[in-house]
Amino acid sequence: MQQTQPYWWEAAPPSTLPRSSIAPRCDVVIVGAGYTGLSAALNLARAGRSVQVFDRMRPGEGASTRNGGIASGNLRPGFQAMVKTFGEARAKALQLEAKAAREDLIEFIAREQIDCDFKLTGRFSGASNPGDYEGLAREAEVLSKQLGVEAYAVPRAEQRSVLGTDFYHGGMVRADIGGLHPAKLHAGMLRIAVEAGAVVHGETAVRGVRAEAGGFEVATDRGSVGCSHVITGTNGYADQSDKWLRRRLVPVRSRIIATAPLSDNLMRQLMPRGVMCSETRKLHYYYRPSPDGRRILFGGRDGTIAGDPAWPTRSLRRALVDIFPVLDDIEITHTWYGHVAMNRDMIPRIFSKDGVRYAAGYCGSGVVWARWAGQKAAQQVLGLPGATSALDFRPPAAVPLFNGTAWFMPAVFAWLTLQDRVNRVRSKRAAGGERVH
Ligand SMILES: Cc1cc2nc3c(=O)[nH]c(=O)nc-3n(C[C@H](O)[C@H](O)[C@H](O)COP(=O)(O)OP(=O)(O)OC[C@H]3O[C@@H](n4cnc5c(N)ncnc54)[C@H](O)[C@@H]3O)c2cc1C
Repeated sequence: MQQTQPYWWEAAPPSTLPRSSIAPRCDVVIVGAGYTGLSAALNLARAGRSVQVFDRMRPGEGASTRNGGIASGNLRPGFQAMVKTFGEARAKALQLEAKAAREDLIEFIAREQIDCDFKLTGRFSGASNPGDYEGLAREAEVLSKQLGVEAYAVPRAEQRSVLGTDFYHGGMVRADIGGLHPAKLHAGMLRIAVEAGAVVHGETAVRGVRAEAGGFEVATDRGSVGCSHVITGTNGYADQSDKWLRRRLVPVRSRIIATAPLSDNLMRQLMPRGVMCSETRKLHYYYRPSPDGRRILFGGRDGTIAGDPAWPTRSLRRALVDIFPVLDDIEITHTWYGHVAMNRDMIPRIFSKDGVRYAAGYCGSGVVWARWAGQKAAQQVLGLPGATSALDFRPPAAVPLFNGTAWFMPAVFAWLTLQDRVNRVRSKRAAGGERVH
């Protein structure tokens, strides 16, 4: 029987916290106890502020214990696209901040002694056609020259030294991306935030925030709190309590399947270097070995918006077998999904509205970004020098005809799937015309 809870919860299930009473006043209220909220809470509590964090579920039960654990700090638009939208200086600042955020996460895990299986494995990006390979090779050059990141192209003929497949037309390896156990990272962050003095209220929803003289009145399921500052870190789980935010962040389901344990030999053949993996398809998949190196965890967009139908799991399994045909008979032991948050220009951001500070919109790359943006938001509340960030933007634009339910996602999913199929047929024809399944 397939488990529908994250594989990660076997080692680190979200904790049900003992109920503590809600203080009627504190310096800062934080909405959401994922990486964003806990990172903000930790920094504020260590600076001596009284902090209460509220989560309507168990802390971490959102994306922060469900994700793939790939510590990428991705920026979805390519560098040239960012230059076009934001100008060269901002595009460079965003890239530099991504680098700083990745490095800061690694230092944080070491400094705080968080046992979360972090390994700086590197990441392989597979090219879905020869043109994409050329693009990845150019990107590797830019990464090495401009950011000093070790990155290199891997031609198709050498691909099997990195990944046991002929599916891609070569790819790129960059050394600065690693993998971790996301739920153990969250558990570690929760522990140190509480030790620092933050009070975390699980299973207690915030119902609304109202400005009042000198601060805010925050209504929760279990009473109201007066405070000087509010930080919201609800990302893909933003609910009706903040209708303004709900029109700006599109929650998209992302799903991961886990294989049953594979033999050592097979794992060595399929993932000889144990790297994290992504690819250039429009509807791209991300995958990795489990931290113990025995399973493959394989993720991608889910394409549904309601219920928990079986087809997205079948479709992910098919995509896995397309890449590794030898897994045709493999059993899938776990399948689960969570919500990522997209915004219109696909850049993570920190913004304010009526004095409430938000950090959100990580577009599926929050393992690095959410902790970083939560930390920055806290530094901004504290008025620290150096608290400004390349992620400081205007609020994301509202999405037309959208009020929180991503009704258009099934159509977007179908359209991207179709484009990928057409591209694959074209590139196979160009390569000599095998039959495409
Ligand atoms: C399946 C999947 C795979 C992913 N893989 C990767 C990956 O490999 N690498 C990567 O970098 N990123 C990945 N991500 C994205 C990453 O997990 C998120 O960007 C990150 O966890 C966001 O953290 P957060 O704290 O902002 O939000 P979350 O962890 O989602 O927490 C938000 C919290 O807000 C709470 N909340 C909402 N409304 C209220 C309210 N009114 N009152 C109180 N609480 C409220 C929710 O209960 C929730 O717990 C993935 C996400 C998913 C779902």
